[in-house]
Amino acid sequence: MLIVQKFGGSSVADAQRVMNVAQIVTDKYREGNDMVVVVSAQGDTTDDLIVKAQEINPNASKREMDMLLTAGEQISISLLAMAIEKLGFPVVSLLGWQAGFRTNSAYTSARIKKVESERIRAELDKKKIVVVAGFQGINKYDDMTTLGRGGSDTSAVAIAAAMHADLCQIYTDVEGVYTADPRKVESAKKLEEITYDEMLELATLGAQVLNNRSVEMAKKYNVELEVLSSLARRPGTIVKEVTKMEKTLIKGVACDKHVARVKVIGVPDTPGIAFKIFSLIAKAHINVDIILQSIGRDGTKDISFTVPEADGQAAVDALKSYVEKIGAKDLGFDADVAKVSIVGAGMETHDGVASEMFEALYEADINIRMISTSEIKISVLINKDDCDRAVSAIHHKFFDNE
Ligand code: ADP
Ligand code: ASP
Ligand code: MG
Repeated sequence: MLIVQKFGGSSVADAQRVMNVAQIVTDKYREGNDMVVVVSAQGDTTDDLIVKAQEINPNASKREMDMLLTAGEQISISLLAMAIEKLGFPVVSLLGWQAGFRTNSAYTSARIKKVESERIRAELDKKKIVVVAGFQGINKYDDMTTLGRGGSDTSAVAIAAAMHADLCQIYTDVEGVYTADPRKVESAKKLEEITYDEMLELATLGAQVLNNRSVEMAKKYNVELEVLSSLARRPGTIVKEVTKMEKTLIKGVACDKHVARVKVIGVPDTPGIAFKIFSLIAKAHINVDIILQSIGRDGTKDISFTVPEADGQAAVDALKSYVEKIGAKDLGFDADVAKVSIVGAGMETHDGVASEMFEALYEADINIRMISTSEIKISVLINKDDCDRAVSAIHHKFFDNE
């Protein structure tokens, strides 16, 4: 079998953890499997590197940021390879470019175009364990790029897809995908299985256990994933196309604190305004999520919408001159908000899920500022301070009295 394993930052945080990973990998190698192992930077290395950059130049170019950030993974691949050598097994470590990761040129959030896996294949043919730096690749200018935070998950799935691996295991610091972040909600339950679509929503809505692009890619190339712990040797959660029917309507609760709400107050209540506002936002390459338009009154209306927190100011800048031109009363953004969501394919065919969620919030005395729904999710925007309480209250409502 060809097995791709990925180990996150906490799984390789120190020498002892690196040795533990070497043990997991070589146990599988010894059973006769071909092993490709993707690793992230140790512990908080990536965050620490970002701090170092900010100390010198908060406006550093994205190209130089990527040159810096790729260093984190270079440390961990070499250390893991040394650990595997120590256990007496043949191994080679490869940087993203050596492993054939070709990306576009969107520094700090590059997309993988393809994985030219000949080198990996050649090393496997020599019976080597191949350790690959996650999160990085190379663009057409031969510059290093990174795939965005949490991108090592995507590196692993990309290799598994390109090489038609038999198994893709994502090892992390919790035992799988839970009904809520197990570090925040004590009663969170581990899921045996979850569909790609549900996982994609959860990941996009704030459950960082898997990077959303990795789930998108896993779905596209039908790569079955297992999320499991590098510390407890127990089965984890399987992420796949179809799961067996379960009685639970919802699979999980997620929370995203990195959102901002942009408001445009008192715009003329005439056709074309929303079109113009959102084309300006699109032109600035800002992703819009929840949109709310008030009922027109006295010839004016208000439009508010959410964007990633980091884009709040850019959204206001993009709208400023237009909003002045049409004589709106006010334009601004506030980042004091968070988005809490529930996800589950089961809710599509069941009434009352939304009302139950809102009841949980009401009972916890939490005010809802915006709502959005789709077939498999409901999101609400609330005050950031209420976020953790909201997740607990909603989780309690749906899961604690089963
Ligand atoms: P890694 O470094 O292994 O990539 P991450 O920190 O990116 O690990 O992701 C694992 C973390 O995701 C867990 O420690 C947990 O706190 C968090 N998390 C958030 N939501 C969930 C969830 N629904 N299930 C499991 N973990 C979750
Ligand atoms: N080291 C990178 C990060 O911290 C990539 C990853 O962990 O997946 O975002
Ligand atoms: Mg991660």
